[in-house]
Order: sequence, then structure tokens, then C-alpha cells
Amino acid sequence: MTRRERTVDVLVVGAGPAGLGAAAGLAASGVRHVEVLEREQTAGGIPRHCHHAGFGSSRPSGASGVIVGTRAVIVGDEPVSIAAAATLRTAGVEVVARVTERPPALPASLAPRHAAPLLTRTTVTALTGRGRLAGVTVRHRDGRTTTLPCDTVVFTGDWIPDHELARRGDVPLDPGTRGPAYDAAYRTHAPGVFAAGNLLHAVESAGTAAAEGRALAAPVRRPDGAQKSPTVELPPVLTDHELVVRQDGRELYRRRLLRPVRPGRPFHLPADWLGRADPHGGTVCVSAG
Ligand SMILES: Cc1cc2nc3c(=O)[nH]c(=O)nc-3n(C[C@H](O)[C@H](O)[C@H](O)COP(=O)(O)OP(=O)(O)OC[C@H]3O[C@@H](n4cnc5c(N)ncnc54)[C@H](O)[C@@H]3O)c2cc1C
Repeated sequence: MTRRERTVDVLVVGAGPAGLGAAAGLAASGVRHVEVLEREQTAGGIPRHCHHAGFGSSRPSGASGVIVGTRAVIVGDEPVSIAAAATLRTAGVEVVARVTERPPALPASLAPRHAAPLLTRTTVTALTGRGRLAGVTVRHRDGRTTTLPCDTVVFTGDWIPDHELARRGDVPLDPGTRGPAYDAAYRTHAPGVFAAGNLLHAVESAGTAAAEGRALAAPVRRPDGAQKSPTVELPPVLTDHELVVRQDGRELYRRRLLRPVRPGRPFHLPADWLGRADPHGGTVCVSAG
């Protein structure tokens, strides 16, 4: 073993709310040597970069003091993109368009009129310009490409998990979330590798991520324990309005949805059907029926 190599019981990658929650939970449950690796200088994760007036408030900081250009393209169709459009306008920037690969996040009747034209099912393929941004090239669903002249581009989400390490480690990904596929005990399909927090989903609070991290302690200590949780398989896109949960051909839950379920956004099922699931049974499938 070289001087830089050392043995740990559990290695936690990332010192955001989920990683710190996991480390705290593991230490409290008696795991002796837990080590947390963080690529940035300071621990804390995304909350450190949110200039809210106290994390948990939804008041945006605005673009005051930051020099931006004159024409902007915003990538993403989440609420953050709408806030970004308003902030840019306040700063005197023309917002050319918002661009998303997905269908619209909000029904047309609910979309704010001031939020700039929305190009849906449209992919950003290139940023053009020499030394300075001159345009954003996009490919539309029908294959046409267009370059939108602009001097500013703002990436606001579309909520793709920070999954580079999982990809490089060949941890199988879920096609719907693009984070690691995992079961209800936060086990990925790579033995010994667990995942929690924003790596698995987005648009959840820091408290939820920390709670998931803490919940890892028990399955990490007993990875092959008798209480195995069935794997849950979600379809990548739910557009229908009735949700059905089945296991081994048995229907566990069925309910008509009050609002559409959109890709990339978490959807919370009630827990009342869990007692009917067989922990030793097959995959639990959630589908639009
Ligand atoms: C704009 C914005 C506003 C938000 N506002 C709120 C809010 O008001 N209230 C609220 O509760 N939540 C808010 N959230 C959500 C909250 O930030 C997340 O739920 C939370 O940060 C998720 O925690 P996490 O630990 O999973 O991920 P992160 O906070 O992203 O932490 C992950 C950490 O892992 C590190 N890391 C990643 N890969 C590696 C690697 N390969 N090697 C080493 N280190 C690595 C990263 O550097 C980072 O420090 C907001 C999120 C965003 C984007």
C-alpha cells in the first residue's frame, strides 16, 4: 500500500446534503471508518451556491452586479428558467428563446406569457462564435437546424443528474432519470455501490437529500440482508393519467392522477400499497394504464 492509499469501511463521494447525511448516519450507526471525498474546496454541495436570502426561501438574488450580454438563450423549461428570463429582462437583456428537449413543462394555459418563446423537443447541438459566443445552434424535432443569434446562454437545469462518475464506473443508469438505476434500499446495480440525493432525482429539497443519505446507513451495513426491497422500474415518460403499480402480475395500486406526471420531475406515490408488495417477489412496475 502506498502512502496515499488507505482502507476505509465506507467511502462517500460528495459532501453535499446527501453525502454528509450518509456519513453522519453511518457514523451514528457504528461504522468506524467513513471517509467523505469532495472535489470542491468546501463541503456543502449546491446549497452553498444558492444566493437565497436563507436557504429555503424562494427569493431570487437577481443579476445585480453581474455583467451579462444583450441577447440571451435560456436552456431549460423548469421554473428556474422562467425566473432566469424575468431576471435577465430586469437586467435589460433580450431573451430570444427558452429551449428544451422535452414537451412543455407547464400546460400552455399556465405558462407565464412573459417567459419568452419556448422551443420544445429541441436539442442544443452547438455553441458558435470565436472568442465570444455568437449563437446557439439547435436541432428541432423534424431534423431542421437553426442558429439563434445571441451573446449569452444560460443553462437552467432540465435536471440531468451529476452522473459522470457513475457513467465512468459502468454503473447502469435509469433511462428515465439518467441517474443510476436503484432499488428502494438505494442499491445500484453495481454491487457495493449505493446512491442518494440529486444523483437519483431532482427538484427535491436539501432536507430530502440529507434524509436519503441518512437512510443509507442500514442497507449499507446489511447489503445482503434478508429484507431485500423489490426493484422498482419506472417508464421514462408518463403521459397518461392513470397510474398502476403491479408486482408479478398482481395489481397493488391504481389511481387516476389529478395532474400530468412529467419526465425529470419526482412523483410521490402514497405508501399505502407497500404492505401488499412482496419484499422477496419480482420487480415492482409502475406504469400508465
Ligand atoms: C438553483 C437551485 C435552488 C435550490 N433551492 C433550494 C431551496 O431553496 N431549498 C432546498 O431545500 N433545496 C433547494 N435546492 C435543492 C438542493 O440544492 C438539493 O436538493 C441538494 O443540494 C441535493 O443534495 P445532494 O447532496 O444530493 O447534491 P449536491 O448538493 O449537488 O452535492 C453533491 C456534492 O458532490 C460533489 N461531487 C459530485 N461528484 C463528485 C465526484 N466525482 N468527486 C467528488 N465530489 C463530487 C459535488 O461537488 C457536490 O459538492 C435548490 C437547487 C438548485 C439547483
